[in-house]
Amino acid sequence: MNALTVIFIGPQGSGKGTQIEKLDAIMIEKDPVRRVVDIQTGRRFRSLAARSETFAEKKVAVTLDTGVLQPDFLTHILWGEAMLDQLDPKSHLLIDGFPRTVPQAHVLDDAFKFFERNEIHVINLETPEEVVRARMVSRARADDTTESIEERLRWYREDTLPVLQYYRLRAQTHVHDIDGMDTIEGVHQQILKALNLN
Ligand code: AMP
Repeated sequence: MNALTVIFIGPQGSGKGTQIEKLDAIMIEKDPVRRVVDIQTGRRFRSLAARSETFAEKKVAVTLDTGVLQPDFLTHILWGEAMLDQLDPKSHLLIDGFPRTVPQAHVLDDAFKFFERNEIHVINLETPEEVVRARMVSRARADDTTESIEERLRWYREDTLPVLQYYRLRAQTHVHDIDGMDTIEGVHQQILKALNLN
């Protein structure tokens, strides 16, 4: 098996986290000698907010629950640091939470070049807005207020959907459109098929 690079794109509530966990387990099983590096910007932003000591940590803490996108430079620092610490061209790489804007995708391209990762897979978890809205309302995470849910859906539409278009046109990039309305197991099987892992 070659080293895989997989970017998960889907609105919040589309089940990205669950699917990455399931895929991670399969990859460890199928390719035990290779490391699977799993980078999630959302988790890293939440741990910055939880520390709340420096100016930046406090600022992230007060803005995170509003659902706004955090500044690009911070996002790049968080995933860049994770790559510096863990990544080499031989590891599998699973990405959750970035790029969420086209400028972020450009910086990520730079990193792909540096880490010698040429072929990119994008898993597009297509889930209608009304479905993810209902899921977010029912899971009642601290940051799932009506305003923050609407804000996150807005930037997904305006800033993240263009990222998919960017990847559809990018060379050596495969965008796999997955029906996010399927069951958890059904979505998992669609992903395995898309990545030729079944
Ligand atoms: P998530 O856990 O991926 O839903 O992300 C939680 C929050 O972290 C988001 O609502 C954003 O405020 C912030 N965040 C995560 N990833 C990014 C990113 N790539 N760009 C900007 N903000 C981000």
